[in-house]
Amino acid sequence: MFEILDARRQQVFVNGKDTFDVACGKASAAGSVSQRACVFCGSRVVLYPIADAVHVIHGPIGCAVYTWDLRGSVSSGPELHRLCFSTDIRENEVIYGGEKKLYAALCELIDEYKPNAAFVYGTCIVGLIGDDMDAVCRRVEKEKGIPVLPVHSEGFKGTKKDGYRAACEAVFKLVGTDDDTPVSENSINILGDFNLAGETNLIESYYKRMGIEVVATITGDGRIAQLRRAHRAALNVVQCSGSMTYLAEMMKEKYGIPYIRVSYFGIEDMTQALYDAAERMPDRDAVMERTRAIVRHDVPELLRKLAPYRQALQGRTAAAYVGGSFKAFSLVKALRHLGMETVVVGSQTGTKEDYEYLKSITAPGTVILDDTNPLELSKFILEKGAELLIGGVKERPIAYKMGIGFVDHNHERKEPLACYEGMLNFAQEVYATLMSPVWKYSPARIRAAQIKNRSELFEQKESGVTGCGSIDAAAGGVK
Ligand code: SF4
Repeated sequence: MFEILDARRQQVFVNGKDTFDVACGKASAAGSVSQRACVFCGSRVVLYPIADAVHVIHGPIGCAVYTWDLRGSVSSGPELHRLCFSTDIRENEVIYGGEKKLYAALCELIDEYKPNAAFVYGTCIVGLIGDDMDAVCRRVEKEKGIPVLPVHSEGFKGTKKDGYRAACEAVFKLVGTDDDTPVSENSINILGDFNLAGETNLIESYYKRMGIEVVATITGDGRIAQLRRAHRAALNVVQCSGSMTYLAEMMKEKYGIPYIRVSYFGIEDMTQALYDAAERMPDRDAVMERTRAIVRHDVPELLRKLAPYRQALQGRTAAAYVGGSFKAFSLVKALRHLGMETVVVGSQTGTKEDYEYLKSITAPGTVILDDTNPLELSKFILEKGAELLIGGVKERPIAYKMGIGFVDHNHERKEPLACYEGMLNFAQEVYATLMSPVWKYSPARIRAAQIKNRSELFEQKESGVTGCGSIDAAAGGVK
């Protein structure tokens, strides 16, 4: 019988049943097999989409391969980000130090690929042997004339969130280094979208229709030149709050740029994101008028297209487990738009306030999880009868092993799910997954149905309702 670990009892809640005092934002409980990645991976996912930089992993080859091309972040131009470079630290460097190897690797890569910057990621072993990455980066920067930025992301030194912070600190060193390029007064930076399946480009197209200049996309489809002038934008619009709030806070403190948190997933949140940005533009009235026109034009058309999906999906149930809590909020709302109920929901990096909000938008009985693990997810998916799991690459095998549908909301997907277009894609994907006849052939489903059938027959026999013969025979002989 599966039991929740004592160390995790304050991270698992049933809406309406438990006293809600989430102990979140802490290191994962030992032995819980968290779905979180390491600090290094946290930095890598955030900086990865900067497409005109080389990304050099100073560490063993395994760290590099593990994060090679780890997201479906596309670029509208250069694609240096899709290459994987590592110093391939071995026993020799562990004993004598890896600084020489790092210096040689950086010089060779910069000469060969002519990037606009280089990011150098520290991994566990580099933290242990004490290589002075900062000194090597300073030396190469001086010799080669491009920014060479150390990212202090040793895997063991915290949670994935610490990796986000290290990535933000590296980006912040670039911000403000170009003060000459003019920027229009109605301008923003898009923070925390990673251009999966081209979503940053899609989001940018809406702001353009609103008459807003997008100065920098951080980091989806990111470019070094954009980051250097990002301090001149009027507003930072933060989507992935878990990863990019640090950068927004630092820019607010140093350059006085206000920021808002938004989500581009689902109809309400997408609309709210556009209105919230329009509201804060210096030329507010004109931008707001254009925004209203976009909403008036796009939303009725979308609702018309969503109607048949909503009818077909009415009453179906889903579980969602994602990295950032804002995405979890949007998923709950988007599923409700499709007539579906979210019965299990959680995030890797939510705050107390985030979970309070999640509680307020979910139905009583919904299981809410912070930093969960495969066993807990499986238990609650079974208990709550979720027919679909929405998550990222690490959740996919859980769903398939359980014989339920899966919708990828991260990493590897090829269809944009953001903006109004994305909502339609999401509905189509949920529909196609749930309606697929394949589930009736899933061994896990067949076995679950047989066990259920057997216990029902047993209960009927006990109460004398049925005069049937062998329960095992009726249940297909399942042991
Ligand atoms: S935990 Fe350490 S060794 Fe493992 S991938 Fe992360 S940085 Fe590399």
